[in-house]
Formats: sequence, C-alpha cells, structure tokens
Amino acid sequence: MRIIAGSCSIENYDQAISLASKLKDLGVSEIRAMLFKPRTDPNSFQGIGYDGIEILKGLKKMGFKIVSEVMNAEQIEKLYDYVDSMQVGARNMQNFDLLRELGRTDKNIILKRGFASYIEEWIKASEYITRAGNKNVTLCERGIRSFDNITRNVLDIGAIIYLKEMTDFEVLADPSHSMGRRDFVPGAAKAAIAAGADGLIIEVHENPEEALTDKDQALDVKTFEKLLRDLDGKHNL
Ligand code: PEP
Ligand code: MN
Repeated sequence: MRIIAGSCSIENYDQAISLASKLKDLGVSEIRAMLFKPRTDPNSFQGIGYDGIEILKGLKKMGFKIVSEVMNAEQIEKLYDYVDSMQVGARNMQNFDLLRELGRTDKNIILKRGFASYIEEWIKASEYITRAGNKNVTLCERGIRSFDNITRNVLDIGAIIYLKEMTDFEVLADPSHSMGRRDFVPGAAKAAIAAGADGLIIEVHENPEEALTDKDQALDVKTFEKLLRDLDGKHNL
C-alpha cells in the first residue's frame, strides 16, 4: 500500500522537518511537500514557493520520496531535480497544456480528479500525459461535488471500484479533501482501501489547529499513527 502523508502545505523549514521526522518514525517514505497551492481564494496562503526548494532538499536528505504540486511549466522545470512525483490538483485536471508538459517528463504524475469531472473525462485527461510519452500516471480520487454538502466533497468509492476493475491505473484516494473534517478521515481512508485503492494521500500536521491551510481536515500525528495500525501495517510495501 502506498502512503503519502504530510501537511497540506509546506509552511516553513522547522515545521516541515519536524513533521517529517515524526512521519519517518512511523515508517512513512513518501511525503506531501507542496510549495505551490492552488487556492480558491486569492487572499489565502498561496504556498511558500521556490524558497521551499531548500526544504525539499532537506526532506530528500532524510530519505523521503517527494510529492509536490505543479501548476505550470516553469514550476515543472524548477522543481524537477527535487521531486519524485508531481501532483496535478483537482482544479487543473483539464489544464491540457500542463498535462502535455508533464507528459514530457519521466516523473510519476499524480492526477487528481476534477471535482465535477466524469471518470471518462479524467481518463481522457490522463491520455494527454501518456500520449506525450510519460506512462507513469497515478489517478487520485479526492471527492466530487454532489447535491449533499455535509462533507467537503463526496468520496466516490464507486470510481475506485470501477478504475480497479476496468483499468490498469494505480489508484490513490485522498480522504482528507474528500471529507474536510479530521474525525471523518480515518473512516474514509479505510473505505477507500477496502474498495481496492492502492494507497492514500493524507494530510497530517503536528498542530492541526495552527495549520496555515486546511486545518479542519489535518490529522494529528497520533491519530495518523492509529490509522496506519488499523490499516494493518501494510503501508509502504
Ligand atoms: C492538495 O492536495 O493539496 C489539493 C489542493 O487537493 P485538490 O487539488 O484535490 O483540491
Ligand atoms: Mn489541502
């Protein structure tokens, strides 16, 4: 099972390295290390930007594989040497020029589902990457918009089942953005794995209440540790 964990955004050096050492103790080998954040509100924290490259180097030295979001060609080029996987966020799932650029790299691309996208549109989007030459594409179900808004999004378990039955994609689930509330995240994570997901991307923060972004959905380290135990210690195999 592939586990990618870390805070929603990289906030500063000390925050990132301190959390990383806790995650390392738990056996996590892939870390969320987002320097650029596609935010709905332009007034909210947009990410630390290229200043965070030094932090990526520190995380790499600790032995982590690095997952970071990119939003344009310049970011792909400038982050290339420091990351292992490049994430395309839900808001960019159909940014076709971005997808083509990622198709010219040899990185693992994690393509999140647009929140109002059909599964077919998602698969077609992935073909912009693969046709440009990069076959290393992972799909991530992160919840869609439906008529009910009691949770942040609606985790589409059916999509996970469909993709695992009908396609060869590696499929991850993001229970954090799906649910939007930390008390619901472990249940959603377990449901996604039970449905056949190959792994999870989860937001974890040492002091969730102080997180600069997505504080309501971040798990504290203890709760995350319990989730890993509940998942039977099968992570990072
Ligand atoms: C994220 O993973 O940091 C993120 C912004 O998620 P999404 O694109 O799924 O909203
Ligand atoms: Mn987030």
